[in-house]
Amino acid sequence: VKGKAKQAARNAAPVTRLAVLGAGIMGGGIACQAAVRGIPAVMKDINNDALALGMNEAGKRLTRQLERGKIDGAHLAGVLSHIRPTLSNDELDGVGLVVEAVVENPDVKAKVLAEVEQKVGADTVIASNTSTIPISTLANNLRRPDKFCGMHFFNPVHRMPLVEIIRGEHSSDDTINRVVACAAAMGKTPIVVNDCPGFFVNRVLFPYFFGFNRLLADGADFADIDRVMERQFGWPMGPARLLDVVGMDTAHHAAAVMAQGFPDRMQQNGSTAIDLMFEQQLLGQKNGHGFYHWQ
Ligand code: NAD
Repeated sequence: VKGKAKQAARNAAPVTRLAVLGAGIMGGGIACQAAVRGIPAVMKDINNDALALGMNEAGKRLTRQLERGKIDGAHLAGVLSHIRPTLSNDELDGVGLVVEAVVENPDVKAKVLAEVEQKVGADTVIASNTSTIPISTLANNLRRPDKFCGMHFFNPVHRMPLVEIIRGEHSSDDTINRVVACAAAMGKTPIVVNDCPGFFVNRVLFPYFFGFNRLLADGADFADIDRVMERQFGWPMGPARLLDVVGMDTAHHAAAVMAQGFPDRMQQNGSTAIDLMFEQQLLGQKNGHGFYHWQ
């Protein structure tokens, strides 16, 4: 976001209180990142275990910073007190932005978004962290589609600088400006992108994964490819390690979305390494078994 757009975002009404729906990997990370940057966050889920897990993750991240001497105990307690876990939509009063980060299921998201729209003020902006569902499709069930857009964080939220802000068919400029400003206030680098399969990052990333699939099919060794990309080429992770971190279930689903969205460019022939590993539930870091073994 540069020039006039940057200035417009600076003039947008700041988000002083935020809500996150879903306390999973992403929701927990987003709530924690907001709190770290001094924006109080309500974190809503449908079960207490998920909320406890979300708070636990935030606590672990802050404890690591405490151990490294980056923050003190009072700061840690202060940040955690800025995250308010809840099971109720009644606590969303006065939030400037709601970030929806529930499971990647269009029906669940449609229901959650419609419910929350009825609970929040007419001026509240709602954004979805979806990776693969078109923003304009999600907006179909909303009464105020102009107040809705995508806000796509990457995992792990505290380490990944980029946030894609996705402009849906009806998203207003004011909505985009407010979400851009909020991402910047959270210490992130926002980019505004169009609503298309894969948005920006996955359109770049998946052809790379598909190239990797083909190298494997030609007999290359995944560890050799990672070694070259990491040590010689200098990327932080090679494709196999990155797929393990992303999760083979997520990658498998996103690959199908890319193939459907861009059949001329992204259709894969036959079963790929990603397909085969997904079928065998070699999901990567999340279940400990992928290309690598994870503790
Ligand atoms: P997750 O499974 O870790 O968490 C989802 C959470 O949503 C769970 O805690 C679940 O209890 C909760 N939930 C389900 N229904 C709900 C409801 N009706 N109301 C409130 N909470 C509800 O999922 P995740 O990996 O954090 O992904 C969340 C979203 O973020 C998805 O849309 C996903 O595509 C997107 N995303 C994920 C990643 C990633 O790497 N995991 C990266 C970018 C975007």
